[in-house]
Amino acid sequence: METTIQKLKGANMDIDLATPAADIAWQQDACPWNQAESTNSHRCAVKNVSLCPHFRGVEYLDTLLCSYPTATKAAIPGA
Ligand code: SF4
Repeated sequence: METTIQKLKGANMDIDLATPAADIAWQQDACPWNQAESTNSHRCAVKNVSLCPHFRGVEYLDTLLCSYPTATKAAIPGA
């Protein structure tokens, strides 16, 4: 059976890499922007609010694509 992947716009995501490791049961990399500024204020995609200018989507299965410190579209491979 052929596998089909559709690209559907408008997902209202809620993603961050800012949760302390002690508060989650899985391994998670930290946001490089938060690390550089010693903060926890930067979030990748905040539902109903905003997208980080460095957010470049999610790769299967759960890998975040981040362009930090570049915030231009030139940071997107193939763009
Ligand atoms: S997209 Fe990158 S820089 Fe922006 S909040 Fe997420 S991990 Fe941090």
